Amino acid sequence: MNVVEKDALRALVARDRDHECEGFGPARVCVRVVAVAELPTRFGPFRLVGFWNNRDGKEHVAMVHGDVVGAEDVAVRLHSECLTGDVMGSLRCDCRDQLTEGLRAIQREGRGVLLYLRQEGRGIGLLNKIRAYALQEQGLDTVEANQALGFRDDERDYAVAAHMVRSLGVKSVRVVTNNPDKIRQLTQHGVVVSGRIPHVIPPNEFNRFYLETKARRSGHMIDLAAERIPEQSDPVVVEGMPR
Ligand SMILES: [Zn+2]
Ligand SMILES: [Zn+2]
Repeated sequence: MNVVEKDALRALVARDRDHECEGFGPARVCVRVVAVAELPTRFGPFRLVGFWNNRDGKEHVAMVHGDVVGAEDVAVRLHSECLTGDVMGSLRCDCRDQLTEGLRAIQREGRGVLLYLRQEGRGIGLLNKIRAYALQEQGLDTVEANQALGFRDDERDYAVAAHMVRSLGVKSVRVVTNNPDKIRQLTQHGVVVSGRIPHVIPPNEFNRFYLETKARRSGHMIDLAAERIPEQSDPVVVEGMPR
């Protein structure tokens, strides 16, 4: 098969067929664009870009809206997979709202990328997330629960996200986030961050304490006196759960 591809995004598949670089971050992760397909969604037309990586079997993807290859100031949202929130509608976190609001923000911008990163449970995996939930039911908060299981507060690593942005040919990004750590990490990995789009979702009765803990313990840009701005990485606490 030797199709000359005029579409800039689809052309990345052929470009990356033999791609190798020194890798991003301490794990020297390298990714390749391996497939691109249309993805009509309830948030408008997207294209789904599938990435292979040289470190593990995680199948990270990018949801791309509009033309982003070679573009500047592209709205980018990093979303870490959360099966319980994204799919099951769990109220222990606000990931589903984060995901849908992120996609709506990109739709409003007319152009943007949502990186769907397969780092379940802030990087600790689904089974450990369930274990951490069980510990929280015994009174630990999210940060303490993760530490009790031998994990750091947040095990996520954005080196792979930075490489994905680079691979998509995006020249500079406006990050849809309230999390300064995301901006810091992306910048460290060579992504040009030209701005930030605040991500505002009102809290519900179940996640208010979780969001407050997130602001207090994780340094998120949340003004508790005004609107709370949830971020996916924050500790999770349900109303009625003992502190
Ligand atoms: Zn590479
Ligand atoms: Zn979640």
